[in-house]
Amino acid sequence: MNPSVTGRIHSIESFGTLDGPGIRYVLFMQGCPLRCLYCHNPDARNPEAGRTITTGEVLADILTYRPFIKRGGVTLSGGEPLLQPAFACELLDGCREQKLHSAVDTSGALPLEESRPVLDRADLILLDVKAIDDTLCVALTGASNRHTLATLEYCETVQKPVWIRHVLVPGYTLETRRLERLADYLLRYTCIRKIELLPFHKMGEYKWEALKCPYLLKETPPPTEADVQKARAVFQCRGLL
Ligand code: SF4
Repeated sequence: MNPSVTGRIHSIESFGTLDGPGIRYVLFMQGCPLRCLYCHNPDARNPEAGRTITTGEVLADILTYRPFIKRGGVTLSGGEPLLQPAFACELLDGCREQKLHSAVDTSGALPLEESRPVLDRADLILLDVKAIDDTLCVALTGASNRHTLATLEYCETVQKPVWIRHVLVPGYTLETRRLERLADYLLRYTCIRKIELLPFHKMGEYKWEALKCPYLLKETPPPTEADVQKARAVFQCRGLL
């Protein structure tokens, strides 16, 4: 690993339990090309914000937590980690050299020519499929899902382990026929190890207000437990959960 490559980060979670297997050091990288209506980290989207840090500094910090993360690992999240491929590649090389499991939590929204070196270096990809319907994906995130689906296809080709993540948003993705379409689409992928259905929540709403950005999902309620169970059943009956 080259220790002097610089990147911009938003924050660090040193005992993360939500982004990959086990206890993990989660690095939230700064900058994201998407504009998800439900984004809970809108302050991580501007690539010019956050703070600059070197790969050497990040790895030194990671290693102070080694006793806690040795059975878990390190997750690069964001923002969008694929937006800083050189920084991400060096960090993933550093994790490999230190025999730490690595994961990349991504929307896969970048072209494969840019993202492939990062995908190749990670042990696990947490791929956030925003919407299987492309028109809906544009409405929800401001961008097409074509790079995301190409990323999944690439992971299948090289048999890179993938956890699919999908946010259940009432009025958008939380709709039985859309969920059935997504589940049917995912059925043929043998690289998928897990599917996580994540209920939409409003914990980031105050950040939108602080940034003086209109939060368009103000009136959208989080899914009920029954909604989530119904969504899970769509995947369970296909043997996907
Ligand atoms: S991909 Fe993540 S960080 Fe980027 S806008 Fe969507 S929710 Fe926010």
